[in-house]
Amino acid sequence: MKVTEHLKNANGKTLFSFEIIPPKKGKNIQELYDNIDPLIEFNPPFIDVTTSREEYIYIEKKGLFDRKITRMRPGTLGICAAIKHKYEVDTIPHVLCGGFTKEETEYLLVDCHYLGINNVMALRGDAMPHQKYFEPTKGGHHYATDLVQQIHKLNQGTYLHEVVEVDNKPDFCIGVAGYPEKHIESPSLHSDLLRLKEKVDAGADYVVTQMFFDNQRYFKFVTMAREMGITIPIIPGIKPLAIQKHLQLLPQVFKIDLPEALIKEVNGCSSNTQIRQVGVEWAIQQSKELLDFGVPVLHYYSMGKSDNIKAIASQLF
Ligand code: FAD
Repeated sequence: MKVTEHLKNANGKTLFSFEIIPPKKGKNIQELYDNIDPLIEFNPPFIDVTTSREEYIYIEKKGLFDRKITRMRPGTLGICAAIKHKYEVDTIPHVLCGGFTKEETEYLLVDCHYLGINNVMALRGDAMPHQKYFEPTKGGHHYATDLVQQIHKLNQGTYLHEVVEVDNKPDFCIGVAGYPEKHIESPSLHSDLLRLKEKVDAGADYVVTQMFFDNQRYFKFVTMAREMGITIPIIPGIKPLAIQKHLQLLPQVFKIDLPEALIKEVNGCSSNTQIRQVGVEWAIQQSKELLDFGVPVLHYYSMGKSDNIKAIASQLF
């Protein structure tokens, strides 16, 4: 079922969902299941599965390093199919511009359609670590808007090669990313929202936000979005802080601010167990306020481990 249909059927009740990351190449899917199992009791209508960009790995041969390009966490679509089958929930593959040609994206979408996967999250992806700025893959898209356009056209039966005879059109529900604290490359929140509006006008059906730790940022973002005519659901993404290093890592990677009160609490902890607990309690308070605001879904970034997400969800759902 489409995300938008799940929201309609919920009749204003806030739903629970989460995002998972495929295991590293060579690892078993069982660990993923072990982390999904405890969350199923909260009835997630859908689970997002991320896609990783390709990266360089260095292989040492007789003292010399050989550089190879590979995707270390492949299998997004396989995992989507496995989880959909095992838990009977909808799964949402993240589809990237970076690392894929338009043709490869089309094949992926055709596979999704065959598998009965009718939601996709359309994203640009980040620059590769050796690149200063995002560089589109040869034959691929530059911005998420272009990817949304491709998916939207496919929904109308238009393939890249328009000669294709179509008797069974897909009908993808398209999610896109939104940034309550603006995207790192954007000159201002207003400019970034104008870009978000372009994704919506191209056919996006809902937005999932980047993580934030101060709900005021989300409230302001939603207000500004609505004023600009963005009327689709805006699902907040929440990540419980879990380790000391997150104090540096999260602002560095995601260009987000952490509230002073949270920093103070984390700095007052003497172990990562205590920090994990602070992260859980912060996320519970955040979630309760977002519930009162009437958000359509509380969407959690699980980053592989689910004990903290379970602790949060058990207080709310
Ligand atoms: P876009 O919407 O294309 O925007 C990128 C930047 O370009 C923005 O600054 C925007 O303002 C600007 N821009 C857009 N259009 C134009 C234009 N025409 N001209 C000039 N500037 C323009 N990354 C992964 O690799 N894998 C994942 O699975 C993944 N999942 C994510 C899930 C969520 C909910 C979120 C919020 C992010 C996720 N990301 C993921 C990260 C995402 O790929 C990066 O944040 C990326 O840098 C931007 O992606 P986007 O889709 O927002 O890009």
